[in-house]
Amino acid sequence: MTVERTLVLIKPDGVRRGLIGAILSRYENKGLRTVALDQRVVDSAMADRHYAEHVEKAWYPPLRAFITSGPLIAMVLEGPSAVEAVRHLNGATDGVAAEPGSVRGDYSLSNRENLVHASDSLESSAREIALWFPTLP
Ligand code: ADP
Ligand code: MG
Repeated sequence: MTVERTLVLIKPDGVRRGLIGAILSRYENKGLRTVALDQRVVDSAMADRHYAEHVEKAWYPPLRAFITSGPLIAMVLEGPSAVEAVRHLNGATDGVAAEPGSVRGDYSLSNRENLVHASDSLESSAREIALWFPTLP
């Protein structure tokens, strides 16, 4: 059981809907530690860097419009197997299919406006943490 860090976003739909506290409390209740946390609005260039693996997909332009549409919360969470733990708490990508009890399963009906992002591997978390929090020790 290795202590890991993972990059998590509460996307603009979560901020607009007033769900920051409800979502953050799930991570805290699980035992994850908040290492960094910041509210910001991102531009298209930042969206493209974050979603580099998806920029060529047909559904990327509306995703970019969504992720840049208002403030989001970016954070780094730390804990044992944090990458897998947060992916599990967030649930499947499509809110309709996501398991009840997960963030997406409980609060989203969309495969785009699905409230949260979390790194999908240690390689991704290293890249994403460096992108979002370049000065974090
Ligand atoms: P995840 O966020 O679960 O890792 P992906 O990496 O596949 O999912 O996709 C990144 C984000 O792009 C999703 O969280 C969602 O907001 C959006 N997305 C994924 N697939 C679609 C799709 N088919 N149509 C619209 N948006 C999508
Ligand atoms: Mg992904």
